Amino acid sequence: MHKIFDGVIKFKDEDFESHKKLFEELKEEQNPHTFYIGCSDSRIVPNLITKTLPGEVFVLRNIANIIPPASVNDGRYKCSASILEYAVKALKVENIVVCGHSNCGGLKALYYPPEELEKMPLINKWLDLVADLKDELSSIKNTKLRAWKLEQLNIVRQIQNLLSYSFVREKYETKELKIYGWYYIIQTGEVYNYDFDEKEFKIIT
Ligand SMILES: [Zn+2]
Repeated sequence: MHKIFDGVIKFKDEDFESHKKLFEELKEEQNPHTFYIGCSDSRIVPNLITKTLPGEVFVLRNIANIIPPASVNDGRYKCSASILEYAVKALKVENIVVCGHSNCGGLKALYYPPEELEKMPLINKWLDLVADLKDELSSIKNTKLRAWKLEQLNIVRQIQNLLSYSFVREKYETKELKIYGWYYIIQTGEVYNYDFDEKEFKIIT
């Protein structure tokens, strides 16, 4: 535990000091340009991989970077939906990034034996939102390839889910809002961006 307490002191003495002016500017309000939806996985740090500073990116992280579709938001998934609503309606972000990643433990859990998932009923219920993606991958026997495809399919699914909200779709169609699907590779630091026309992920260079 000491490590994070020591970190707080170091942050205040070093990082905060070197960005003092920025924090002073941010004290009243935020005006982020981007809403980032990512996995809770500790290995992906949104500000680090986008080289952004405090105040630039509004963030939602959960297991497997999921946005429940508007059709299931009957009060069950208020957390994710309310953050989306705030980002688009109140903060008026210009961009939404859905960022999935390699070796995602959440998505891998879809393939755990059912009895293991039953010990984690909350995760089990959450992952129900994407469980049907497995149907599209049933012909792939290579588990590594299957995982990679599932992670990418999931990103595309979440973009579709975003567009199921009328307040997102309207701004997207009038080009007030851009939506990106990213796939981050942990061991290389590379990010692939989804090409909507060619329906494939292309490395950002
Ligand atoms: Zn993950």
